[in-house]
Amino acid sequence: MGLREVDLFVIGAGSGGVRAARIAAQHGAKVMMAEEYRVGGTCVIRGCVPKKLFVYASRYAHDLEDMGGFGWRVSGVEFDWLTLIAQKDKEISRLEGIYRRNAEAAGVEVVASRAVVEDANTVRILTTGEQVKARYILIATGGQPVLGPQIPGGELAITSNDAFNLPQFPNRILIQGAGYIGLEFAGLFRALGAEVYVVFRSPKILRGFDEDVRDHLAGELQQLGITLISGCTVAGIEAVPGGKRATLSDGRTFDVDEVMEAIGRRPYTAGLGLENAGVALDKAGAVIVDAASCTNVPSIYAVGDVTNRVNLTPVAIREGHAFADTVFGNKPWTVDHSLIATAVFSEPEIGTVGLTEEAARATGRPIDIYKTSFRPLKATLSGRETRMLMKLVVDQESDKVLGCHIIGEAASEMIQIAGIALGMGATKADFDRTMAVHPTAAEELVTLRTKSA
Ligand code: NDP
Repeated sequence: MGLREVDLFVIGAGSGGVRAARIAAQHGAKVMMAEEYRVGGTCVIRGCVPKKLFVYASRYAHDLEDMGGFGWRVSGVEFDWLTLIAQKDKEISRLEGIYRRNAEAAGVEVVASRAVVEDANTVRILTTGEQVKARYILIATGGQPVLGPQIPGGELAITSNDAFNLPQFPNRILIQGAGYIGLEFAGLFRALGAEVYVVFRSPKILRGFDEDVRDHLAGELQQLGITLISGCTVAGIEAVPGGKRATLSDGRTFDVDEVMEAIGRRPYTAGLGLENAGVALDKAGAVIVDAASCTNVPSIYAVGDVTNRVNLTPVAIREGHAFADTVFGNKPWTVDHSLIATAVFSEPEIGTVGLTEEAARATGRPIDIYKTSFRPLKATLSGRETRMLMKLVVDQESDKVLGCHIIGEAASEMIQIAGIALGMGATKADFDRTMAVHPTAAEELVTLRTKSA
């Protein structure tokens, strides 16, 4: 029997791979897609979706605290970690089924195996040893948590992969890293009742975010009882009776139930055989691609986190879609990576789109800053010590809004809409002309009158 031949072989069934496979098949291509773990990838199985479910779970704790001020008397309420995990698992399995069925319904053959590249047009399916000839190969293998420098006892640390399935709720947790993942888990574990320590090597949390956002969120996290430890790293971990002892670079020790590493993610290219086809990688191990997601080998493309462009699910999905339309649908288009709105589901959450004040100033063009920090209406009766932050970065000459930054309840929902406005080139005058929706927090965005000094 000769080798099987396909038009497209996709390695990795995450957000980017599944979208590309499905659309290519809908365009009439014969498609195979290999996945070594579970269909759905990081976002569905051990990222965005379970994280958001956990965030929802944690916010009930805040609601319970806030209810008293509104006349509710609550007693006898308990949280059960294992119920949350079981419920989350049920939902993830449902979503995985939908992802798989949608791909198969489009005609994609899904193979439950690791697959490696043998040359520019050949893939080997490792479970069966079968070689498949492919007109095109798409690398969509995503990323993996970085484990960091070797430290004594480093193997005792968990990553976000493990945090979703801990057999026991960690009543004390020390998290290294103050980026998206570190702060999201810090917030949800704290709300669920844990003692939380966040250790980070820089002077401030959230490198790359607007300075006001960094400072404001740090204050809010401390208000919630999260201990922020700056300028430190975890130097060692040891098992002690009843838990783990983390020793920091300044010599301090913390006895906790879990130590979690959240120090970034790296492209998952190791052992994929990309060198057999001569695919070029950058220093971080990411596949180098052009605007059409094509590598230096014309038959091999890559989308999503494995390319380390903008590591967000909707970006991977769009890159996969553009690839399939371009290569198989005779509809060439490329993804616009500018002005991508994003949210950090910390407590409180952040929504941000466009330039930070610092990045805008670095362009050398004169800019105006409008910002406000205020106590949300709900906090007046709940008594919660929290303030929202809203900030607009405006180009002085064109009046265009270059950046919008929000911290507070529903910031993630607001920033999606602000993203549309900024994408259309909205000016500050456009914001001001828009009638406020009252009483909301979002109305502050259209009533910012005074430039900050
Ligand atoms: P981030 O890059 O956001 O943050 C990494 C953190 O680890 C920073 O505090 C960084 O410090 C620190 N760090 C990096 N290297 C080391 C090291 N060797 N030793 C000690 N500390 C170190 O990574 P995350 O893991 O939080 O998330 C990965 C990516 O996943 C995000 O950037 C984002 O693209 C995506 N993501 C998106 C989410 C969303 O959209 N809501 C949610 C979760 C993830 P320093 O500041 O000094 O570099």
